[in-house]
Amino acid sequence: MFLIIMGPPGSGKGTQAKLLAEKYQISHISSGDIFRQAMEINDELGKELQLAINKGQLVPDELTNKIVERRLLKDDCHKGFILDGYPRTIGQADALGLLLDKLGCELTKVINLDVDSNIIIGRLKKRLLCKQCGASFNLITNPPRNEGFCDSCKAYLSVREDDNDKTVVDRINIYEEKTKPLIEYYNKKKILCNIKGDVDVKDATKAILACIER
Ligand code: ADP
Ligand code: ZN
Repeated sequence: MFLIIMGPPGSGKGTQAKLLAEKYQISHISSGDIFRQAMEINDELGKELQLAINKGQLVPDELTNKIVERRLLKDDCHKGFILDGYPRTIGQADALGLLLDKLGCELTKVINLDVDSNIIIGRLKKRLLCKQCGASFNLITNPPRNEGFCDSCKAYLSVREDDNDKTVVDRINIYEEKTKPLIEYYNKKKILCNIKGDVDVKDATKAILACIER
């Protein structure tokens, strides 16, 4: 199974992607997680990524495509994957299409989580991240069982550097301009699942599974 999950920042795509990867035993490929890991290393690549990400801008297509491509060529991806946060532009979607052709795989479904921007702004300000395992929580909609600690690995939770008031608005605007056109792009290919994302995590998962297995 080859899936893409899309949606505005804070729509819950990371949370759903993790659940789906477990259910279908496929690899969860999050461009944001890959970038955050690479940023921890303060080399030239790390610095270039920091420059874009901490300002809420997109990492340039050429660099993004290269990094994701390298990941998708690894063995564990042959059995299937769910892409979370990639593609985010038409240029990236075209590059992904070429790569999938080369690999001989076809997208099963593209899941779009539809959430209103007003809700998103509220959600992003309440988001907590586990730096150790990448799990994401939300103080309102998906709180950790023990306040301040990760459910899975018990590490301390932190706020992401790019989840601040200024960047959040910029990221939503960039989403509207660059990423939203992908909804129509995949709709035309007849593989789009449009899912209401402003509901409970469990209800969104149910709706996604129903669409995938339709
Ligand atoms: P969000 O939950 O806000 O969607 P992600 O963890 O997916 O966040 O991504 C965090 C940041 O990493 C983005 O704001 C962007 O700067 C960068 N990024 C992630 N994926 C991509 C991509 N496909 N193309 C360009 N930049 C990306
Ligand atoms: Zn954790």
